[in-house]
Amino acid sequence: MNISSLDIDYLLTTSDPTAVDNLFAEAAALRNRVYGRTIFLRGLIEISNHCRNNCLYCGIRRDVKTQRYRLSKEQILDCCQTGHNLGFRTFVLQGGEDAWFTDEVLCDIVADIKHRFPDCAVTLSLGERGRDSFRRLREAGADRYLLRHETADASHYALLHPAEMSFEHRMQCLYDLRDLGYQVGTGFMVGSPFQTLDTLKKDLAFIAEFHPDMVGIGPFIPADGTPFANRPAGSIDLTLRLLAILRLLLPDVLLPATTALGTLHPSGRERAIAAGANVIMPNLSPQDTRALYSIYNNKLSTLSEAAETVADIRARLLAIGFDAPIDRGDHKKMKLEN
Ligand code: SAH
Repeated sequence: MNISSLDIDYLLTTSDPTAVDNLFAEAAALRNRVYGRTIFLRGLIEISNHCRNNCLYCGIRRDVKTQRYRLSKEQILDCCQTGHNLGFRTFVLQGGEDAWFTDEVLCDIVADIKHRFPDCAVTLSLGERGRDSFRRLREAGADRYLLRHETADASHYALLHPAEMSFEHRMQCLYDLRDLGYQVGTGFMVGSPFQTLDTLKKDLAFIAEFHPDMVGIGPFIPADGTPFANRPAGSIDLTLRLLAILRLLLPDVLLPATTALGTLHPSGRERAIAAGANVIMPNLSPQDTRALYSIYNNKLSTLSEAAETVADIRARLLAIGFDAPIDRGDHKKMKLEN
């Protein structure tokens, strides 16, 4: 759907529950037409909480005094093996910008995962790197890259990040990744400090124009030890509306029901599915490091988020009429009949 044909202001602000229900129903129906009643699972592996950056919202920013860890290659491969046995066919390696993971180290890890699990997709979510680094990782076998743009408004970006970080560079990374043949995911937090209706509309316009394969959005949740520790969390309702609008704008987009939503509400992810989401990323990280990857407070890291409960997730999806196949869940170019 063309962005100009949607009344975004109305959809984001109306207090008419019928209008909101209709929005969710329309988005869910569209998701069903494009992807069927299928939810794709990705195994999330949080490889490091070391970070050279100092994003003001993030609980693992450089200045936060917290215990740091990084996983070894063997630990990462073990997580993949566990995930593969559970039926995952996508592994998402996420982490802070940790200089220990040089191109050489990462390429070796990616190549090994692809060698051992040739039926799997490897997604990286490791922040900004140079084009040459992205190219080498792609050549080593990485299939996808997730890099949220965080906000499409340059002055808002400057309020969320320290001066040494640049909006232009983050955007450049996204275009480089696309150019290098990655399936690309971007996105933003809902309710981040200083966000307005105007910046949200810029996010939607950017996403509609860039047409990423994936869009990750979730509510902002304050993180202890950060400058935004006392800010209010983002709204679940607004997040759900934005998910539905994104589905209408990009019918074929892969749209995760994010952990942040599940953290704020026990059925947050089910509600996201009802609003058009079609991806869930359970955590495959080793149990003892999960709590350390604390990008925000009270992040789901206990049993409800354990990949061991994937059978339970499948059962819950089945109960609402969805299957979660053993499948890479690649982006599907839209094939709508009309
Ligand atoms: N270092 C990587 C991965 C960051 S963590 C990168 O820069 O892309 C993944 C996402 O978590 C971030 O892009 C951000 O949008 C989100 N995030 C960080 N802090 C958060 C917070 N306090 N509340 C909600 N989401 C947060």
